[in-house]
Amino acid sequence: MTRTFRDIIFTLTLCLIVTVGFSQSKKIQIEFIGNCGLHMTDGILNFYIDFPYKSGAHNYMEFESAELDSIKPNSIFIFTHEHSDHYSKKNLRKVLKEKKGQTFGPWNISELEKLGDSLSEFNIKAFKTEHKVFGISFKHYSYLITWHDKKIYLSGDTTNPETIGEIRNIDWAFVPYWILKNAKEQGIEINAKMYGIYHLYPEQIPSAKENWDKVENIKPMVEQGEKFFIKFKTK
Ligand SMILES: [Zn+2]
Repeated sequence: MTRTFRDIIFTLTLCLIVTVGFSQSKKIQIEFIGNCGLHMTDGILNFYIDFPYKSGAHNYMEFESAELDSIKPNSIFIFTHEHSDHYSKKNLRKVLKEKKGQTFGPWNISELEKLGDSLSEFNIKAFKTEHKVFGISFKHYSYLITWHDKKIYLSGDTTNPETIGEIRNIDWAFVPYWILKNAKEQGIEINAKMYGIYHLYPEQIPSAKENWDKVENIKPMVEQGEKFFIKFKTK
């Protein structure tokens, strides 16, 4: 008798946990960390994009060391390229040692594209995109993530708008302002519901706010730690 009662309680508790778990995971939360650094979670999986980088590298945004401490255990780290304002081997090594996790970037793209096979409701496609500094090309990838049927595009540092221009129905496009500028100049139409303008210099923040704060579908990434949400329906 006691056993049955205990079983019932156990089952009810389990149901409650599952229900609460599901209702919490009906949105993807995207936190802007700095530069192109984003933390994306659905409450179950944690992805870090272009983070950890080197704080203040190339006069871009700094971050507190507490930011590294707050990284979730067993996260998946994805990098567009290895420049220090996007990627820090030293910081990454420190994080992985303490928290474990998986790391992907231009060095293991084929493994990255297989990531979707082991994760449910998640898929990532990599696009080799151009990133030249003083005429020298660096290995660089832009990414399209499809997660819970939502499309999130991560442009990185590329200056070419052609790749993003070929993708339809993007829910959130994270792009530097020069992608919008170049697209306009080249007559390329970008098909996205929302734009997150990232990779701003600290001194560009006031003008970015002025330019875009009243544009409904454009969010300048000016507030480090600001969170954005993409609602989705569970299947
Ligand atoms: Zn950069």
